[in-house]
Amino acid sequence: LWRQVLARLQLELSRPTFETWIKTANAERLENNCLFIRTPNPFARNWLQKYYIETITNVVCDIAGYKIEIYITSDSDDSHSQENMAPVEKTAPRVVSIGIRENSPKTNNLNLNPKYLFSRFVVGANNRMAHAAALAVAESPGREFNPLFLCGGVGLGKTHLMQAIGHYRLDIKRDSKIFYVSTEKFINDFSTAVSTEMQSFRDYYRTADVILVDDIQFIEGKERFQEEFFHTFNTLHEAGKQVVIASDRPPKQIPQLQERLCSRFSMGLIADIQKPDLETRMAILHKKAEYDNIRLPRDVIEYIASNYTNNIRELEGALIRALAYISIWGLPMTVENITYVLEAPREKIAATPEAILTVVADTFNVSIEDMKSNSRRREISWARQIGMYLMRQYTDLSLPRIGEEFGGKDHTTVLYSCDKITQLRKKDAALKQKLYQLTDQIQINNPRKLL
Ligand code: ADP
Ligand code: MG
Repeated sequence: LWRQVLARLQLELSRPTFETWIKTANAERLENNCLFIRTPNPFARNWLQKYYIETITNVVCDIAGYKIEIYITSDSDDSHSQENMAPVEKTAPRVVSIGIRENSPKTNNLNLNPKYLFSRFVVGANNRMAHAAALAVAESPGREFNPLFLCGGVGLGKTHLMQAIGHYRLDIKRDSKIFYVSTEKFINDFSTAVSTEMQSFRDYYRTADVILVDDIQFIEGKERFQEEFFHTFNTLHEAGKQVVIASDRPPKQIPQLQERLCSRFSMGLIADIQKPDLETRMAILHKKAEYDNIRLPRDVIEYIASNYTNNIRELEGALIRALAYISIWGLPMTVENITYVLEAPREKIAATPEAILTVVADTFNVSIEDMKSNSRRREISWARQIGMYLMRQYTDLSLPRIGEEFGGKDHTTVLYSCDKITQLRKKDAALKQKLYQLTDQIQINNPRKLL
């Protein structure tokens, strides 16, 4: 059957698609009218699932002459069991035991994302406190930090962290009542419950052992729901049940939030998550590749991590785009090969000249006045040249205007510096690394943050 299917698919799909996605997959078994197709990695699985499942299903059913359901699996899906047993974090032995526990099979009808585990969460300076608090709550819910209020910008890991608490509890006690609910759904359930159903709505939410309420900022202005939630909160809290809330901003900044709710939200711990630094972004890509069984050269990781700085979801998106491109065209994974796909959506940082001067001066241990002076001391002129290069890259100032920022240098001097650094950068890996770090710093320091 599979051989016939392949032959047909070869006709129906383009050559790169066929070569990359179909040829590498294997029909594993046919069982109760279900065909299991195995792909070499989860990435290929997702890709087939997303774009080709219909075509494949049609072809298979057509050839078999009866209805067959297709299931796509991947090699690493079950090799994880071993992978997870290995110490995940050498420096944090507590995490190791989590990795093992999380591995136990469980029924998951709670719409928790199976990937949102502590073992898959990379800890960096930006989220250390939130992570520690989440772990504490997962270990002893309803004790120290109740409620735990997680806040931070979009795509920085709030949902991941709060669901990790849920998984952790379930692994300790399979029948714990973990409710994960988005505020939108919560509001929706509430407003569609007619009066006769109201009691069961209440009873339902009030039986939770741990309630994880995501994106609470949507509670803004919903007076009746705020009233209801206040009582739900109190009931759970008084019963010693853990409440975890996530929001894109701290309670005080949620407009039209009742004062009493605001103070309830603030009575436990408010832990914020910031944007990750370069090192953390690299670690995240590294970990993701590891889980997906994909080898990524270090400079590729560095390149992607340097270009996607705001949001971990976008960072992951960039990696996926790069992988797709590479495999469709059968190219080796190199920085050169992926610049093409990543160039277009690449975030442009727009920095102020002041931010650049400050960061360069700090990094090279010279003063801003030095850089604006005519001094030719080696370290000063080096810092000046780097500064000019960065200003050319990350502002839209003209060459003469950049010259002015450096105490009235000629535009040919600016041009010379930019060319020199551009050339050096190609050959000198250490310089390249340094420039990535500088860019990162500039973004952190940049008051205008037009990101
Ligand atoms: P938020 O809820 O804050 O908008 P999410 O929790 O949905 O963000 O995270 C966005 C994506 O980034 C998810 O795929 C998540 O797994 C990933 N992610 C976020 N933070 C980390 C981290 N520290 N380590 C690994 N992956 C992370
Ligand atoms: Mg979220």
